[in-house]
Amino acid sequence: MRDSFLPFSRPSITEGDISAVEKTLRSGWITTGPANALFEQKFKDCIHCCEAVCMTSETAVMQCLVHALGLGPGDEVITPSMTWVSMVNMTALCGAKPVFVDCDKETLMISPEAVEQAITPRTKLIVPVHFAGGILNVGPLREVARKHGIMLVEDAAHALGGEWNHEKVGSSGTAMFSFHPIKNITTGEGGMFVTDDTALANRMRSLKFHGLGMDAYDRQTHGRAPQAQVIEPGYKFNLPDMLAALGVSQLERLEEMNARRKAVFDAYYEKLSGIEELIPLGLPSYCFKHAYHLFAVRLDIDKVGMSRDDFMKELKARNIGSGLHFRCVHLQKYYRESMGCRPGMLPATEWNSDRLLSLPMFPDMTEKDIDDVVWAIKDILKK
Ligand SMILES: *Cc1c(COP(=O)(O)O)cnc(C)c1O
Repeated sequence: MRDSFLPFSRPSITEGDISAVEKTLRSGWITTGPANALFEQKFKDCIHCCEAVCMTSETAVMQCLVHALGLGPGDEVITPSMTWVSMVNMTALCGAKPVFVDCDKETLMISPEAVEQAITPRTKLIVPVHFAGGILNVGPLREVARKHGIMLVEDAAHALGGEWNHEKVGSSGTAMFSFHPIKNITTGEGGMFVTDDTALANRMRSLKFHGLGMDAYDRQTHGRAPQAQVIEPGYKFNLPDMLAALGVSQLERLEEMNARRKAVFDAYYEKLSGIEELIPLGLPSYCFKHAYHLFAVRLDIDKVGMSRDDFMKELKARNIGSGLHFRCVHLQKYYRESMGCRPGMLPATEWNSDRLLSLPMFPDMTEKDIDDVVWAIKDILKK
């Protein structure tokens, strides 16, 4: 057994990352400024999108988005329940109703057909999630949204560097990214809104900073003229420049880090192939490039005779961390109580919610780390 704990994720921080932050700290300008402008520009260059708006988290992006779209009571937002809680929470907070769509049992993503069935005259927004680095079937989803005249925004928290049909995730349409420490690049905390709708991007830029009006100069420098006025009440979700500087430095290493994630992913696939008790996610059959965000598996709890939670405890007892992506949202306390959600509503989501765990996967993992995880799994299953 290994003698130090292996976390399920650890950010990859180089001396270059540290000196980028240090340089900003010493520059005399640490709140939103030149590093934010550079991060947004580099992000646009990287994923080939028209507009990029940086914020303090993806959840902050979502909060501005529901505001910008004017969502409220009587409106519906289509979302998976197999996701992190952010979009569902922001929907509930603005008074709109989350409409949960069951995911595909193997890819854990929602299909264009399932989305279309959930559309009603009250549907205002569709937010599907690229899952674990697997990529949504973007083209058909866009077609459904276009046909019904509903806005589609991709939750791309797991998908930075991924592609659908040779098209970078976020390169067209509207998408949101997260830079939380477990994501493919990190700024400590942070998020990015990308879109080809310039008017919407400018509204988000204003909403993220008190709702102040901007002129062309402000848009370039991300400063605000001292004379700027409130156009509408807004939030305060601007990213400090120290964090944006880290983002610039991390983004430069995206391909290298994703390549290392892929190597870990491939090694797991091979080393776990004989272990029937762990079922890896299925991969979509359409053309896509994986972003290798998580290595999620489903525990065959009937065969093993142990719950997923106990299995995670057994891993921990062997100094191996693991993650849970995700416990389904619709059966969490608030959504059970406020919406009357009940087990059985979303069979594929619930089946996975009871069985999913994420094995350690991060760029700096060594071959030995991977072998330690595989050893621990085999040791637990032996008993
Ligand atoms: C991480 C994550 C978020 C939230 O991102 P934050 O930057 O932490 O707000 C939203 N959706 C999904 C699917 C995520 O994994």
